[in-house]
Amino acid sequence: MEKDSKIYVAGHRGLVGSAIVRNLKKNGYKNIITRTHRELDLTDQLAVRNFFESERPEYVFLAAAYVGGINANNKYPADFIYKNLQIQNNVIKASHDFKVKKLLFLGSSCIYPKNCHQPIKEEYLLSGCLEPTNEGYALAKIAGLKMCQFFKKQYEDNFISCMPTNLYGPNDNYDLETSHVMPALIRKFHDAKVNNKPYVEVWGTGKPIREFLHVDDMADACVFLMENYDGLEHVNIGTGKEISIKELAEMIKDIIGYDGEIKFDKTKPDGTPRKLLDVSKLEKLGWKYKVELGDGIRNLWNVYKIKNC
Ligand code: GDP
Repeated sequence: MEKDSKIYVAGHRGLVGSAIVRNLKKNGYKNIITRTHRELDLTDQLAVRNFFESERPEYVFLAAAYVGGINANNKYPADFIYKNLQIQNNVIKASHDFKVKKLLFLGSSCIYPKNCHQPIKEEYLLSGCLEPTNEGYALAKIAGLKMCQFFKKQYEDNFISCMPTNLYGPNDNYDLETSHVMPALIRKFHDAKVNNKPYVEVWGTGKPIREFLHVDDMADACVFLMENYDGLEHVNIGTGKEISIKELAEMIKDIIGYDGEIKFDKTKPDGTPRKLLDVSKLEKLGWKYKVELGDGIRNLWNVYKIKNC
């Protein structure tokens, strides 16, 4: 990628896309193109083809997706599979037809089996059944990853994929019904502190184990892969460190300085019991995360306070 290459970031208003744009600008890339959802509906095949035909991007970061936390995924599986397949089919095929030099497809660690051997290596894909709460989203992402591989094999398109662990950072969704755990807990503990509530409800048993990566690190890894990786196999992106939901809740409670209780709502699903990525492949390529979890949470809470107080 040259500093004046024409780079299209699909999904530039989202958590990851916005971080990729920030990272590209910081690294001196000058020719970044974006479209809002209103300007370009990525589920509209003809509109996507027209956009690629007129703009002719050279590089594509496919960070646009229909996303949500465990509750949204569980409730709307049809929307998650259908919309994501549409978005990625349209962008990947248009990238092929209009000769994009390189495309990076962003997936998710939920592509791996529910009871996968840990830490999860790239080759464990399709070695077992998926977690039912996010099966629709996971199947779409597996299809996207395979599509990139197949276009590479059959047509020699330079389409690569990466699979990040649970991400967090600014520009996230704080809606308690549809968000992921990190923004939900920042909001719940902050609101409970401000309103002197006696307890905060955390979904599930608190036992599931997750790995969290700050989105600035994720963006940095995406730009790194675009610059340095041309392999057929997808690449995991994470920290290699894990924490239980109970420990995460306690950490956020301490950082925010909330004195009340934590109650676990066991009527809500736990999802996958453990999700820890093996990130040795990415580390061997020369990339490692920088933002430690405590610093990331403090930073996120500061941004939340500025936006909501
Ligand atoms: P997942 O990694 O795909 O399961 O996505 P989430 O980030 O939505 O959930 C991670 C874990 O956090 C699950 O075990 C949830 O049950 C748990 N969790 C605890 N409290 C909350 C909450 O308020 N919102 C969400 N989304 N998850 C929560």
